[in-house]
Amino acid sequence: MAEQRVVLTFHRWQLDKPVTYHLVKDYDLVLNILQAKVTTEEGKLVLGLSGLEQNVEKGIEWLKEQQVIVEPLATGLSVNKDSCVDCGACTAVCPTGALSFSDDWTLGYDEEKCILCLACETACPVRAIEEKF
Ligand code: SF4
Ligand code: SF4
Repeated sequence: MAEQRVVLTFHRWQLDKPVTYHLVKDYDLVLNILQAKVTTEEGKLVLGLSGLEQNVEKGIEWLKEQQVIVEPLATGLSVNKDSCVDCGACTAVCPTGALSFSDDWTLGYDEEKCILCLACETACPVRAIEEKF
């Protein structure tokens, strides 16, 4: 068994395609949806794909053939303290408490708790949160 975590970006014209259905049915993959976000312009899905190694690779190839943008998921995050304005938008959306403020209002990041769902990166108004690869 193999698992790959990927970020999928869909163009607006692709949003009604049953992509997850095909990954499960045609490639026998188990999907772990870490984040799903749709705007009027695009859709973004942060996904864990588990299954036989060759099936994971074939599933990813199929996604690319469908013109879905497939990118590897980051291995961690970094917060640019110079850009951060301490607004709290990231801590509000973090599902695991990996981002939190200390008593002196310093933003802390606990990598052990982070599931790399990228909800904080999307929520940050000044793009202070960056992925590490
Ligand atoms: S990636 Fe997700 S889990 Fe990790 S710090 Fe951001 S919101 Fe929290
Ligand atoms: S959302 Fe961005 S600016 Fe706001 S506290 Fe988090 S890292 Fe700082």
